Amino acid sequence: MADGAHEEPAEDASEDGSAPEAPAADAEPAAPIPAQQTRGEADAEPPAAPVGKPTRAVRQPAKVIFGPVENGVDYLCSVTHHLAGAPTPRDLKYAILHLVAATEVLLKARLQLEHWSLIFEKPQTATRETFDNADFKSCGSIEALERLQNIAGLDIGNQQTKRDLNILIQWRNALQHYGLKTYKEGKAAKTVYAPAVEKVAANLLDFLLNFVRDELRPELKREELQALDDELRNVYTGLADIKKYLDNRMSRLRAELEPLRDQTVQCPLCKVYALLCNGLVECRFCEAVSEWGVVVAQEYVLHVQEIDWYSHSKDGGNELVDWCPECNTDSLVADVVFATGRRTSYFCFTCGCDFDSLASCDVCGRPAQEADGMAACGWCLDAKLERF
Ligand SMILES: [Zn+2]
Ligand SMILES: [Zn+2]
Ligand SMILES: [Zn+2]
Repeated sequence: MADGAHEEPAEDASEDGSAPEAPAADAEPAAPIPAQQTRGEADAEPPAAPVGKPTRAVRQPAKVIFGPVENGVDYLCSVTHHLAGAPTPRDLKYAILHLVAATEVLLKARLQLEHWSLIFEKPQTATRETFDNADFKSCGSIEALERLQNIAGLDIGNQQTKRDLNILIQWRNALQHYGLKTYKEGKAAKTVYAPAVEKVAANLLDFLLNFVRDELRPELKREELQALDDELRNVYTGLADIKKYLDNRMSRLRAELEPLRDQTVQCPLCKVYALLCNGLVECRFCEAVSEWGVVVAQEYVLHVQEIDWYSHSKDGGNELVDWCPECNTDSLVADVVFATGRRTSYFCFTCGCDFDSLASCDVCGRPAQEADGMAACGWCLDAKLERF
């Protein structure tokens, strides 16, 4: 994910034809954190220690991060505000932009406490001068998260956090390049749906609120906490509303999905057991729809089974997505679990067929159904027929 490549301010992303954003709060640049805003008085100390005196290691004062933290939490407020009630496409747009901005600002505020050079895209090129002048390209949110985990050694976030952040950044980039309705990902056109945004936002809000509480709030001065805590309370209330909405949606869906549970699999986008494949692939929960079972099959392997495609094929593993003997598309995945808990050996994300056992094609080795002691996949069967 080329996250770091997109550091444009939030207001650049208004290509969806909606009315220009009026309130100034919405038009604030998202990233990077202007360095001058994040620096406190301690940085104004004389640069050189008097000769003969040992240099004192000065811990950067709490004041250093108050600006960015306040700014980040303000963005979070805006996210919950935009997602409240029935969000319009414009609401979704600003919820996405401001959630990306909040994540970036808050992660970098903590990273900066570790060392200011770590918010540079390439820390090895960091100089104090470029930092002071805010004249540098900063790292993206994913890199910031990874640096906090790997360099600062913080036990924060998990695979899901990274996944949610990745989706969000994709949406943000799509907003900036194609507008909200649809965007291209590979060959497939995608659409951003309100419930999907709410689900991803709820996950990330949970993560960020804990992050602020555990990693940033303790660094602030007591007099700064009052304002921050008031803002945080608003975000908690907003998040509770979003969760209530998601719960209600799930309860409404339960009756609808009950008779289909034995064909319903987990959605790679929202992770809810609400994905149905029948030519069209649709998630009844997040409303994501795709005509490309082939793509959804790959996403399932990557995000539900959490198999790293690269290391799997490097280790000479078998095909992760194979040919379906029923519909002849490349969307057959092994070891798929249904909402009922039933586990099938093979499931096709295009036609929705599942197979408890499959033979290998006598000619090419692709999965095939056996008949009269022979197994031929659709391809080899077609090729054979053509010859007659
Ligand atoms: Zn979904
Ligand atoms: Zn199929
Ligand atoms: Zn074959």
